[in-house]
Amino acid sequence: MNRKIFLSESEIPKQWYNILPDLPEPLPPPMDPETREPVKPEKLMMIFPKECIRQEISQERFIPIPDEVLEIYRLWRPTPLFRARRLEEALKTPAKIYYKYEGVSPPGSHKPNTAVAQAYFAMREGVERLATETGAGQWGSALAFGCAMFDMKATIYMVKVSYEQKPYRRIIMQAWGADVYPSPSEKTETGRRILKEDPNSTGSLGIAISEAVEDAISHEDAKYAIGSVANHVLLHQTVIGQEAKEQLSQIDDYPDLVVGCIGGGSSFSGLYWPFYYDKVSGKAPKDVEFLAVESTACPSVTKGFYTYDHGDTARITPLFKMHTLGHTFIPPPIHAGGLRYHGMAPTLCLLNRRGIVKTVAYNQVEVFDAASQFIKAEGIIPAPEPAHAIKAVIDEAVRCRETGEEKTILFLLCGHGHFDMQAYDDYFSGKLQPYEYPEEKVKEAMRKLKDLYPWLEIEID
Ligand SMILES: *Cc1c(COP(=O)(O)O)cnc(C)c1O
Repeated sequence: MNRKIFLSESEIPKQWYNILPDLPEPLPPPMDPETREPVKPEKLMMIFPKECIRQEISQERFIPIPDEVLEIYRLWRPTPLFRARRLEEALKTPAKIYYKYEGVSPPGSHKPNTAVAQAYFAMREGVERLATETGAGQWGSALAFGCAMFDMKATIYMVKVSYEQKPYRRIIMQAWGADVYPSPSEKTETGRRILKEDPNSTGSLGIAISEAVEDAISHEDAKYAIGSVANHVLLHQTVIGQEAKEQLSQIDDYPDLVVGCIGGGSSFSGLYWPFYYDKVSGKAPKDVEFLAVESTACPSVTKGFYTYDHGDTARITPLFKMHTLGHTFIPPPIHAGGLRYHGMAPTLCLLNRRGIVKTVAYNQVEVFDAASQFIKAEGIIPAPEPAHAIKAVIDEAVRCRETGEEKTILFLLCGHGHFDMQAYDDYFSGKLQPYEYPEEKVKEAMRKLKDLYPWLEIEID
């Protein structure tokens, strides 16, 4: 019995799968809060590469992957699929546990699957530079890598507190040739305004998004790139699930349960969408279930409201119909587990409402407990984000031990944790608390949103 299953380079999928034509109802479109009308694609094309917006709203089920993008994918794809035999033995479970490992990419996560594609489409349209924001640096480093592959420039606005406290991701971005600025910066009007009000501002993801978007729309040569949530980002990630399906089919297996963590929902969508396609097209040999795992510190789906809200704190983006904690959400400073975004991919939210994608939330202490158990069994050190999925998988495997079910569980190990060792250190030294974001704070944010847009239908009490 093989410990891991590799595919050959010629087996890298040649197309991305787009879920939009297979949703049970049309996806509510992004809305302009001024006009309360759907946002025109032309408006979005001023910010993003045109091809990305075409894909964002495309009803084509399969979208060909350009040869130039495949050529870069070949640097690390296909990624391995592991059977977690030692973990199964440690848990004494009759369940079979498999994980697809995206930590083998140069930046160490799934994110370059879309960064490379976005850089390529921008380059082909004559764009010379992509601008984006980054928090801890995972998305920024993926985009820096993607741009380097096509000799493009990357400008990364990195939240100042991370820029100062987490230098290694910044240095990685610079190694790939990106210009990295601590945000708020002197480079943009937004940054200058905020620094004038508060010269000591340590920044936020919302401020960094505003700076990157402003940079892109105020320069002819530049466009903006996004790392999660948007449909085109999620579909670029479907190489993950397509490969996993092929790998499992080579050993005659198919999952009963597909599990992944969700920050904005891109990595998990990349894994589960191809299995969802099987399910809706009658091709699935089993009644496969989907489980998305979030953090109790940022419980967008399990505690958030399903309503139109902005994608960013500064309210520059349009409104998206999604589960949200409110665009005013600020992640608790004690939270070490990643997955800090207030909203969620609209497709995932829609399928959650329909009961097709289930969600569960775990606190950071139980998540790091699960990561420790995984590390000792399997050796790989997971990023804190996929450790949430590991916690859910361990719980399910233990339940199978009690019921004797021989379930096949597949989960996504979307990145390694080599640059997250501070979070592990905090866990080992007992500094982490099992924090739960209070329901009252979500309601408070929803009242603010309703004050801003009284026409939104939000039932708060
Ligand atoms: C960015 C990131 C996430 C969260 O984003 P999703 O879009 O939900 O995948 C999770 N894990 C890793 C390793 C990441 O880099």
